[in-house]
Amino acid sequence: MRIRVDDIPESGRVLHYHWDRNRLKDFMPPNDPFEMETLQPVSVDLEIHKGADHVRIRGSFSARFQLQCHRCLDPYPWQLLQDVDTLLLVEKDLPDEEEVELEPEDLEVEFFDGEEIDIDRLVAEEVFLALPFRALCSEECRGLCPGCGANLNRETCRCSKSDKESPFQALERLRSQWSK
Ligand SMILES: [Zn+2]
Ligand SMILES: [Zn+2]
Repeated sequence: MRIRVDDIPESGRVLHYHWDRNRLKDFMPPNDPFEMETLQPVSVDLEIHKGADHVRIRGSFSARFQLQCHRCLDPYPWQLLQDVDTLLLVEKDLPDEEEVELEPEDLEVEFFDGEEIDIDRLVAEEVFLALPFRALCSEECRGLCPGCGANLNRETCRCSKSDKESPFQALERLRSQWSK
């Protein structure tokens, strides 16, 4: 969704639409570490107002994605509900720092060419910013056993405890073999 600034009425414009199910893929990096899948497409609810030298976008969007747990590699659902309050400034009219500091803390400032706003790109950026630093199916996720690969959330480890050796021990053993 692209909006031309000239098409925004003085009274503002209300935007409410849903992304196509596959739209997220257009913004996804080629090696997506989250293995993101769309369960419920992004629903966008925004109000756009323009001023003499800026455009302000406020509202929220929601979506439900499937992510891959970094510990156990199982997919799990992730609900996103994000507020948006973004001030778009025309690239050439950079305000001095003092002016920006007067803005409320949760307001994001971005720049655009002054003619057209790529709303989907803006939303996609917000989605990626909201992604968890470490995707976990639950805080208690027990992950995979590094020895046998068992999913410790639902399987018991198949490694026999007796012949478990640390990578360091394995290295020591190899070294002693080579030096013979
Ligand atoms: Zn997990
Ligand atoms: Zn194991």
